[in-house]
Amino acid sequence: MPGRSVLVVGGSRGIGLEVARQMAESGDRVAVTYRSGEPIVGLFSVKCDVTVPEDVERAFAAVEAEQGPADVVIINAGVTEDCLLLRMAEEDWAATIETNLTGAYRCAKRAVRGMIRARRGGRLVFISSAVAMLGEAGQSNYAASKSGLIGFARSLAREYGSRGITSNVIAPGLTETGMTAVLDQERLDHIIAQVPLGRIAQRWEIASAVRFVASNDAGYITGAVIPVDGGVAMGH
Ligand code: NDP
Repeated sequence: MPGRSVLVVGGSRGIGLEVARQMAESGDRVAVTYRSGEPIVGLFSVKCDVTVPEDVERAFAAVEAEQGPADVVIINAGVTEDCLLLRMAEEDWAATIETNLTGAYRCAKRAVRGMIRARRGGRLVFISSAVAMLGEAGQSNYAASKSGLIGFARSLAREYGSRGITSNVIAPGLTETGMTAVLDQERLDHIIAQVPLGRIAQRWEIASAVRFVASNDAGYITGAVIPVDGGVAMGH
């Protein structure tokens, strides 16, 4: 379907921006949300913090007014607040869950409402992480939020499959973005040593998988967790 209405939640940089650019280049009408900073040049941009329910409602309404109800919603907004459990404050736990998991609930709920009303099916794509399967010391809050997305997405696959709405998860391994730029070389080398392909991912490699699962060609794929991780979490 050419000219589909696509919304990338958390599309201001990193993986989300790459997804948005790739989808726009392939002919979709693409909107992104940004939380901080400026609107994104060349893409319809709506300010939205997924921890604020009114922001989510406003963002979807703005996208609907600009390019019609979203046929494809990529739920990508995510944060890390790394800390060992015994030092993890309630706020570190809550902030991560609130953005990564509760934010996804808010966006998916609003997305599904629009898709059902439009009666032309839809694609939900959640960006989880290899850490959801493997766990990671210092990332218990992040890993919990990212595994939560899997159960959430699969439940939606069952609830809305009969409406032609697919719900899938992409689970990237470590990817070159602002989120990983903060890691020191020693930590990076340690992680890379565990990756069968011996390197971290480039943004476009994650975006390619997102684009596929959001395409018409992926119409019979739902409830899937698609790893794009150089093999690091294989077997899970
Ligand atoms: P970045 O930190 O580069 O970008 C994060 C994006 O999420 C930004 O667009 C940011 O918006 C947005 N965002 C953060 N908090 C909120 C919020 N409360 N409301 C709305 N938007 C928000 O991250 P990456 O591109 O690296 O990661 C993208 C996704 O991929 C995340 O979900 C991450 O967990 C996941 N992932 C990343 C991996 C990696 O190695 N990079 C590996 C596995 C998974 P703004 O810039 O406007 O603040």
